[in-house]
Amino acid sequence: MTEEIEVQPEAVPCYQCISGHMQARLLTYFTWLNGELITVPNFPAWVCDVCGRREYDEKAISWLTMFLNPNAGKPTQRKRAAHRPRPQAGSHRPRPDQT
Ligand SMILES: [Zn+2]
Repeated sequence: MTEEIEVQPEAVPCYQCISGHMQARLLTYFTWLNGELITVPNFPAWVCDVCGRREYDEKAISWLTMFLNPNAGKPTQRKRAAHRPRPQAGSHRPRPDQT
């Protein structure tokens, strides 16, 4: 990984304060996953130079979502035991001598 994030010469205008421009920055991204706070340092983001509004990079967020949820988007390839009925509360139990 030797590539660096290129800052585009054309600044993106901030749509919150209008007068500011979004500048590419690397911030620490915070997100919650299953009740745990996840922090990702050096996360690509855009910060307004006037009002300080932060916009995280969409591609980076989608990548992070994939990273945090490795099962998402993958075809289920789990090997299942052929017959293993699990007793479930509230439903009829499978008989041990059948199924
Ligand atoms: Zn702004």
